[in-house]
Amino acid sequence: MKILCIGRNYVKHAKELGNEVPKVPVFFMKPDSALLHKNQAFYIPDFSNNLQYEAEIVLKICRPAKHIEAKFAHRCYNEIGIGIDFTARDVQKLQKEKGLPWEIAKAFDNSAPLSKFLQKTDLPKHISFSLQKNGATVQQGNTADMLFSFDEIIAYLSQFVTLKIGDLIFTGTPAGVGQVNPGDRLTAYIEEQEMMNFQIK
Ligand code: ZN
Repeated sequence: MKILCIGRNYVKHAKELGNEVPKVPVFFMKPDSALLHKNQAFYIPDFSNNLQYEAEIVLKICRPAKHIEAKFAHRCYNEIGIGIDFTARDVQKLQKEKGLPWEIAKAFDNSAPLSKFLQKTDLPKHISFSLQKNGATVQQGNTADMLFSFDEIIAYLSQFVTLKIGDLIFTGTPAGVGQVNPGDRLTAYIEEQEMMNFQIK
């Protein structure tokens, strides 16, 4: 399986990092070795001095998709979870300045902690989600604020990359990204439900 990630999908987040609001989805990928399951602790890698969380709604693909139209894209996912797109912001900044790919800052081992999944049919059309750091809310989002909807993302991605069963799509982070330090605890919620809770070491 593979992990596709959408960048700059919430206007306030794009602006907080000084980025333009994109006209088409920005995407990058993480390998399967990036997954971190079951509330396991995350160890800050030693190559970064500014490791940041980005809480994101995650879609799990349930049928193959290639060149799918947005109006049919809803058939391609049944389950929704929440994940963290951990980013070595200091490393990413250097890559951006040089116009180089972001993988070194985003695709490293365990850079994608992932929650359990909920059935799409059990969730409202517009999903609210949030992240707490040490019990204080640091990110709060609603998928109604996405620049590109789930269906538009799937339609776009499937023009370039065949989506397969089990693939994951991280759909972008709202404003409020920030640094983690050893000893921090992150708790992620969809609606009022605690989905994931793990420690930073
Ligand atoms: Zn992200």
